[in-house]
Amino acid sequence: LSSRASAILRPLDIPLSGEIAGAYDGSWKGSGDILESVCPSTGEIIARIRTASPSELHETLDKTRDAYKHLRALPAPRRGEILRQIRESIASKREALGALVSLEMGKIRTEGVGEVQEFVDICDYAVGLSRMMNGRVVNSERPGHSILEVPNPLGVVGVISAFNFPVAVYGWNFALSFAAGNATLWKPSPTTPLCAIAVTKLIARVLEVNDVPGAAASLVVGGSDIGEAIVQASGVDLVSFTGSEKVGREVGRAVQSRFGKTILELGGNNAAVVMPDADLSLAVPAIGFGAIGTAGQRCTSTRRLYVHRSISDKVLRALSGLYSAISPGDPLESTTLLGPLHSKTAVDTYVTALTSLRASGAEILSGGDDLEPLPAPLATGNYVKPVIAIPRTHDPLKEPWNKELFVPILNVAIFDHLEDAINWNNAVPQGLSSSLWTRDIRNVGKWIGPSGSDAGIVNVNVGTSGAEIGAAFGGNKSTGWGRESGGDAWKQYVRWSACTINFSDNAPLAQGVNFSI
Ligand code: NAD
Repeated sequence: LSSRASAILRPLDIPLSGEIAGAYDGSWKGSGDILESVCPSTGEIIARIRTASPSELHETLDKTRDAYKHLRALPAPRRGEILRQIRESIASKREALGALVSLEMGKIRTEGVGEVQEFVDICDYAVGLSRMMNGRVVNSERPGHSILEVPNPLGVVGVISAFNFPVAVYGWNFALSFAAGNATLWKPSPTTPLCAIAVTKLIARVLEVNDVPGAAASLVVGGSDIGEAIVQASGVDLVSFTGSEKVGREVGRAVQSRFGKTILELGGNNAAVVMPDADLSLAVPAIGFGAIGTAGQRCTSTRRLYVHRSISDKVLRALSGLYSAISPGDPLESTTLLGPLHSKTAVDTYVTALTSLRASGAEILSGGDDLEPLPAPLATGNYVKPVIAIPRTHDPLKEPWNKELFVPILNVAIFDHLEDAINWNNAVPQGLSSSLWTRDIRNVGKWIGPSGSDAGIVNVNVGTSGAEIGAAFGGNKSTGWGRESGGDAWKQYVRWSACTINFSDNAPLAQGVNFSI
């Protein structure tokens, strides 16, 4: 193992050689297939992980169910206190975990650390929530009656997550699920197993100290077969799935067919709209971060840019200037702003998309030419240049506009009226994030109102990416309608009962129905 990788793995208690167990339910195990964790910035194999076998998965599911029975008996504020300790444990390894995210996923270090901070933030939020997950008292129409709406723990929450946020997405789900009194079973992306193992180790230690069964935060590293088995398992009450639209559609159908609950957080195809009165000193860097940040691999990455004709030359000149100042490099270096793509497959997607843009007559404003080879050990990494393209035609229902490619290609179109830009913003199948740049309050009203953006995230003078944990996060339409993190998201992690209680000596029927015998 390179000294670069071992320096990151060592403080997180990850073995530097041999096969690493990838399943945890109170004890570590794994006798399934071997899975390799490959560093996207160098191509180095950084670990070999033993996945969970089908029988181990079932054993883990049983233990997770038992852990739920333990957790649901703990008062919610006590669960909050344990979460507070988990928060401290994760925060104490903020830098180390952030570096691991950077090493294994490929995003730049500051974004890796930021992602760990999101885990810390959502723990803080859920600690508070553990004293505020309240139901309601509803007025009854019958004398001497009360109606209570009561939230109770749901059961087992299965979290199936994507490669691009290998720590934060689990954090959003785990913190709310745990505070609500559920046991959580995590199946991370098969390409970011070490992040999942490191986080689970930190949580497991806290659970142990507090005499909570380790299966309250179970882990099963594995591929789509393990994911499918979780989706099918009737003992998983809620499947929180983060990933592509293609897989999400199958997951949604399968869970629905057994009447389970889902939270679906699927692909985005996010647009930024720039009005003539926009402050370009804010808009251009934010659009640059939205499109180039995480090498275009955020669900909220800016993929479409709609610029008003009157300022299009100025905006595109400034944006091209910003692009030419950024070149890919080692994501672990503090000066790097653009790391590699996560996989070789993503590089192929990028090359195919660029070829097709060129073939269809698109103007390539930035990027697209060959990348100078990077020095060893980066020469074998998945680096590409970010691209700004003006496709020949704009049809939001056709390629390249209607798809999320998850690579740093920004497609641009010019508009004359805000209404057109809003229609274009809304015309694609996805509905995750959107961003308007303007100083005119009338435009803001249109954008956030009933005829405005139909996305789950509707920003003004803020880019499409980089959400905070306080608001409910998620998208509409083919993004899956899921909401996680803040807002009312916690309400999905409990089962609600309406309890009508009769304190009187009579038993009147509702609506005055007379059924006297
Ligand atoms: P993916 O769909 O390939 O995989 C996601 C997860 O699903 C992985 O853990 C994978 O092993 C598992 N999986 C694959 N097939 C399965 C099956 N048949 N049944 C059950 N599980 C299965 O996605 P990815 O490439 O890892 O991630 C990128 C995608 O995730 C992008 O589309 C991105 O927009 C999306 N994403 C969305 C959000 C959001 O909040 N909306 C956040 C992050 C990522």
